[in-house]
Amino acid sequence: MKPFQISNILRSNIRDLKPYTSARSEYSGEASVFLDANENPAGGAAGTSYQRYPDPMQKELKQKIALLKQASPEKIFLGNGSDEPIDLLIRAVCIPGRDNIIVTAPTYGMYTVSARINDVVVKEAALTDNFQLDAPALLKLADKQTKIIFLCSPNNPTGNLLDPGAIQTILDSFNGLVVIDEAYTDFTQSPSWTAMLEQYPNMVVLQTFSKAWGMAGLRLGMAFADESIISVLNNIKAPYNISAATQQTALQALGRKKDVAQWITLLCNERTRLSQALQQLRCITTVYPSDANFLLMHTTGADALYQYLLQQGIVVRNRSSQSGCSECLRITVGTPEENDKLLQALTQYKSL
Ligand SMILES: *Cc1c(COP(=O)(O)O)cnc(C)c1O
Repeated sequence: MKPFQISNILRSNIRDLKPYTSARSEYSGEASVFLDANENPAGGAAGTSYQRYPDPMQKELKQKIALLKQASPEKIFLGNGSDEPIDLLIRAVCIPGRDNIIVTAPTYGMYTVSARINDVVVKEAALTDNFQLDAPALLKLADKQTKIIFLCSPNNPTGNLLDPGAIQTILDSFNGLVVIDEAYTDFTQSPSWTAMLEQYPNMVVLQTFSKAWGMAGLRLGMAFADESIISVLNNIKAPYNISAATQQTALQALGRKKDVAQWITLLCNERTRLSQALQQLRCITTVYPSDANFLLMHTTGADALYQYLLQQGIVVRNRSSQSGCSECLRITVGTPEENDKLLQALTQYKSL
């Protein structure tokens, strides 16, 4: 197998693209009068912090994230949620109407939605009965038009970590991009794949500030990969994809690492308590092990239970239409009070 190079699988229009250059990146040296970007120098309705276009490369924020994640800033891409790099990666390497990606079934829905928006075919590799990877079977689905394999670990909606040995087999055997979505990594004890960036030039690791950091409304996601891949993402993103408000807020928020660690401890303890309590209930047949901030449970009847909880003012996620998840509900671990309410409602449930 030839060593992986992103240039070998880029779409030709992307390889030949002359990216947009933003006004402020076209000069070097000192300047104090900025008449280059058609901004409003007279005032700003949202205050002076938002009068000017933000840093398109988010240099200050990346420096801080690099320290937090022990990765070099050149290997980091920041997106408007991690949903942005999912879409950009597909657009960079998949020729619409021709190429395909591989996802596991079940998994997070956005890989498939992004692929379909881009007219890219999706092949599904079923997980095993205990929601693990069957690496040989997955790799058999790959053909010349397969450009990306998306793996989610811990997997959504199942909650489990994928076996690292099986992930390694896929990284070693596939000569396209392997994306490992680690949205829930902060809730696990196991190390991030970002530690293996040097070994795997075809690997992209996704993380997000939406879950453990409690910043879902801000929209800030990360992709970690070799510089050659990161520079492709930078070339094709919208120039100002991360707003000044997001950059400034995130810079402040990164100082709250200790609070985040406390929230993680609380939620992991609640996960254990909730899981044990749910297993005692008659309407629940299985609670699957979870390394994330949610639990997948098999029930005696998912649709009825979902409707019942909704009547009690509790919204959970009905995953019963997903492959391997019939009669399953996914519940996010809430605060102790929220979890008590859920347990109380479920205790009072009389299934028909
Ligand atoms: C929640 C979630 C995301 C979403 O990330 P954003 O950064 O909020 O876009 C990505 N991947 C998985 C698997 C998720 O569950």
